[in-house]
Amino acid sequence: MDYKAFMIKYAEIGTKGKNRYIFEDILCRNINRKLKPLGDFYVRKEQGRIFVEANSDYDYEDVVEALGKVFGIVGICPVVVLNETDFDSIKNAVITYVDKAYRKHNFTFKVNTRRNDKSFPMTSMEVNSELGHYLLEAFPDMKVDVHEPEEIINVEIRKTVYIYSITIPGPGGLPVGTNGKGMALLSGGIDSPVATYMIAKRGVKMEAVYYNAPPFTSERAKQKVIDLATIVADYAGSIRLHIVNFAEIQKAIYDNCPHEELTIIMKRYMIKIAEELAKANDCQITVTGESIGQVSSQTVFSLAVINDVATMPVMRPCIGMDKQEIVDISEKIGSYETSILPYEDCCTTFVAKHPVTKPILSAIEKSEAKLEGIIEPLYQKALETVEVITCRSGNN
Ligand code: ATP
Ligand code: MG
Repeated sequence: MDYKAFMIKYAEIGTKGKNRYIFEDILCRNINRKLKPLGDFYVRKEQGRIFVEANSDYDYEDVVEALGKVFGIVGICPVVVLNETDFDSIKNAVITYVDKAYRKHNFTFKVNTRRNDKSFPMTSMEVNSELGHYLLEAFPDMKVDVHEPEEIINVEIRKTVYIYSITIPGPGGLPVGTNGKGMALLSGGIDSPVATYMIAKRGVKMEAVYYNAPPFTSERAKQKVIDLATIVADYAGSIRLHIVNFAEIQKAIYDNCPHEELTIIMKRYMIKIAEELAKANDCQITVTGESIGQVSSQTVFSLAVINDVATMPVMRPCIGMDKQEIVDISEKIGSYETSILPYEDCCTTFVAKHPVTKPILSAIEKSEAKLEGIIEPLYQKALETVEVITCRSGNN
């Protein structure tokens, strides 16, 4: 089938009142950006809808896949565009469309005509009933059901004619860039890429920070995180990844603090540094992949003590999810295979045999006091030696 255009359906944007045009414009911009490498497309807004028109040849599968990664889109309708606007041409095109668009022709349907071109000699109702009649003639196993049809054959008569009926689901969410910026703590695990994806899905532009710990962690472990950021960037748009040298800080904690408290103290420093980077890059929130009870540092007691250093909201979109639910999302977005590659993480290098599961804030603060005079220069050095890599997928 030769689709010359796509109609884009979006949902929540419609509820934004006076700001609606901002959401629509950003969605158009994101669609444009995503499709740029795939052909010459013209994206336009029209009466609460967005049309993507192809001005060049393009690969249908590639375009549908790309649109399926643009947050804010709930449905993608491939559209046949017809330049002839007389009834006979429309009739023939609709029959050809239904013939090719469906494998089986045994469903209930109704025709839904919209007539913007008021000079057209028939009313919408007349077009509906005439086209319905011809479709029944061409496909005897189809049935009209005007109340609960399985398929609605849409025909829009303007200067050109648009025919569409199929809706391919989009990713939902809100267009990235409509809701501030976040700094994700991105490790090489399963959870944090999913968390980054979920916050981006709500329209937040994302940056990320990775705590690297050479020589305890390898170049491969770092590359894995770059790869994960790139996979998420396919949906979220480009992600600036801040790579922090964390080894000296970890070593100082290891040498000076009780080992069962290592992870908690380390996580507190991770949050502190993430906030510094967040503030320097105009982010309003930080994001982690934590989920209640998953490991000792994610009991509510541990989370409370870790969270105590935060001055910005820490968003934890995986917090109430089971591991399998997080895995399901990571498989869906394509990060799972990379996440499970067995490279060491900075947290596993300095892990205690019996980490605390009910840390007490005052005790942790007392342990941290032992770092005074030692950690400050290391902390400054970590911030001064950050490496920034912009991760973008092939087409954004
Ligand atoms: P993930 O699957 O995201 O690695 P996890 O279940 O392994 O999470 P932890 O290792 O306890 O959990 O880490 C909790 C959160 O802390 C992670 O989701 C991530 O947001 C952050 N984090 C952990 N290690 C790092 C790191 N090396 N760099 C950046 N962030 C990290
Ligand atoms: Mg991890």
